[in-house]
Amino acid sequence: MQAKQNSHKRMVLGRTGLEVNRLGFGGIPIQRVSEDEAIMTVLHAVSCGVDFIDTARAYTTSEQRIGRALQQTDKKVVLASKSQIRTADGIRREIETSLKNLQRDSIDLYQCHYVKNEEDYVQVTSSSGALQGLVRAREEGLIGHIGVTSHSLDMIERVIDDGLFDTVMVCFSFLEPAAAEKVIPKALKKNIGVIAMKPFSGGVLAKARLCLKYVLSHPGLLVIPGVESIALFDANWQVFQGSCRLDESEREEIESIRRQYDKKFCRRCDYCQPCSEEIPIQLILGMRYAIQRFGDAILQKDWMQAGIEHARRCSECGECMERCPYELPIPDMIRENIRWLDEDYRSGQRPVE
Ligand code: SF4
Ligand code: SF4
Repeated sequence: MQAKQNSHKRMVLGRTGLEVNRLGFGGIPIQRVSEDEAIMTVLHAVSCGVDFIDTARAYTTSEQRIGRALQQTDKKVVLASKSQIRTADGIRREIETSLKNLQRDSIDLYQCHYVKNEEDYVQVTSSSGALQGLVRAREEGLIGHIGVTSHSLDMIERVIDDGLFDTVMVCFSFLEPAAAEKVIPKALKKNIGVIAMKPFSGGVLAKARLCLKYVLSHPGLLVIPGVESIALFDANWQVFQGSCRLDESEREEIESIRRQYDKKFCRRCDYCQPCSEEIPIQLILGMRYAIQRFGDAILQKDWMQAGIEHARRCSECGECMERCPYELPIPDMIRENIRWLDEDYRSGQRPVE
């Protein structure tokens, strides 16, 4: 299945000048399959024409598996990784680890991962912050370009205004369409590359045709669905081969799914914060899908365990609900997710719905 190299399928990622296919490869889910499956999936994607792969220090085995896969092909692939370390020295060490894992002398794009609020941003951009470490690494040729990823569109807007980063990575899907107006045009106007993550709304949606066509119908975006199998990749790639224009019946289908999820889906905007019990609300509301994507390993993370313990202390004060623009019944959703974890998932390992 070779890529048709027609122009609307290729793009230049903003001021990085990197030219890639608009459908890239998200490296989260390959953590949860066997190493052989992961490597085969990466190699298959690359052989079909994928030439942009995104991974992260936080994705356990993902970098190493991608590195091992790319040793087995001569195809040229643009590589992106990222780290949540906020200091210059710390991120330097992270880059060195990524280089080793990916078996490269240089990584094309290195991103500050999950910059969620002003405090994070101030830390990252301070004189001893991660951005300085990235700039130095770029001067030394260890990385090519510098990006940022965030779930907060307010944060992304701030990043675009300041113009310190070459790319931004945003959540974008038909259940989370706000970036289309709020940040994408602004970024593209400033020639900042835009990478769209979670086109399937973080695993909530499954229909490749609708999800990918919706995102790809917005020009200028690099879309990076995560896949862990050749079959899933092929389904996405097939959509990418066709027209990305949504027809009337597809638009209606999207509207119907939107209505179905309207009061059930957390858009990760964080407007509900702060919570008096320090509950990471979006993390808890998205917990089932996170387990689906990352596997059991995510439940071993300190921050996940702490988040779950805080969630058990929800006082049902309702303050978060007053701030949620989507009027989600947050305390009920928290309670149900904790119940699901304790009773359904932990006892019977029931598959995630
Ligand atoms: S209802 Fe629960 S989650 Fe919402 S603010 Fe109160 S304690 Fe926090
Ligand atoms: S619960 Fe509501 S306000 Fe909080 S992150 Fe989700 S969508 Fe945003």
